[in-house]
Amino acid sequence: MSVLVYVEQADGKFKKSVFEAVSYAKAIADNQNTSLTAVSIGNVAEADLKELGKYGAAKVLNVATDQLKNFVNQAYAAVIAEAATKESANLIILSNSFSGKGLAPRIAVKLKAGLVDGAVEMPNFDGGFSVKKTAFSGKAFAVTTLTSENKVIALNPNAFGVKENAVDATIENFNPEVKATDLTAIVKEIVRATNKISLPDAELVVSAGRGLKGPENWGMIEELAELLGAATACSKPVSDADWRPHSEHVGQTGIAISPNLYIAIGISGAIQHLAGVSSSKVIVVINKDPEAPFFKVADYGIVGDAFEVVPKIIAALKAH
Ligand code: FAD
Repeated sequence: MSVLVYVEQADGKFKKSVFEAVSYAKAIADNQNTSLTAVSIGNVAEADLKELGKYGAAKVLNVATDQLKNFVNQAYAAVIAEAATKESANLIILSNSFSGKGLAPRIAVKLKAGLVDGAVEMPNFDGGFSVKKTAFSGKAFAVTTLTSENKVIALNPNAFGVKENAVDATIENFNPEVKATDLTAIVKEIVRATNKISLPDAELVVSAGRGLKGPENWGMIEELAELLGAATACSKPVSDADWRPHSEHVGQTGIAISPNLYIAIGISGAIQHLAGVSSSKVIVVINKDPEAPFFKVADYGIVGDAFEVVPKIIAALKAH
């Protein structure tokens, strides 16, 4: 078995979840005593491609064409599948990111591969190839056994961690032919709505719910987030009421996140909300109701009024 990892770029840069996917792929390649190749699509600087060696990618296929500068689902999937064929790779790893969720099944179809999306652990090789993954929007775990020769795994961000395992990366230009039929929809330009920390990539998240009473009270949430270097998030009713943008809505019908720290302020902890945040490494809950369901999954809890507690935390952080 040889392993191929797709390294997703945004604006020519790799995100932390990419280094995590490479670390994960390297751990599997080492376990199976095989080689690891990365494939990058888009315009990434040579120094950044070389950096992938720090996490274990000995070879990087660089597909640098203006045609594929921005993400196009069909075309990217075709290129990754072709890279897998070229490298005789039968295990393809990628991040279970927004684009990874679209790519993984397409690659699996092209390679007639079994697919595990939302993997949270290393595969278990004892008597087969089984992978633990999230199921039912993060409400449960499932263990899937792949019996096909080709396999695709989409790894949940922040599930494995970044592990350095330095090798010298050699970069090889790869120019597969891109079919016109795979380029029927092209992203010409990506305009960022905000320069704030992007929620899916954030290590720290400060989130608030209907307990905040109205959009005028979000000043303290933003101030706390800024002091911590955190992204802001919210519950669904908050974004439904237009108190906050929909891009901040987390949960079953919003974004699923797994930051190192999730601070939930004035959020009850409904199962649909927990579906998107319960894999956070540490959860801190601030709620005035001691019976709020969120406390059941909290690592730390403060029973108190957000309008008293949050200003005190801000003052304490400023004092340091
Ligand atoms: P509430 O339930 O109103 O809770 C407010 C909380 O704030 C309470 O616990 C209260 O004790 C506390 N509070 C009030 N005042 C204060 C104060 N001064 N200080 C401290 N605490 C205070 N929800 C999501 O969030 N994400 C989803 O993706 C999602 N998807 C859904 C999908 C479906 C199909 C359905 C049916 C529902 C979905 N929901 C989702 C809605 C979910 O069921 C809850 O209704 C929602 O999460 C509640 O939001 P909330 O906790 O902000 O508000």
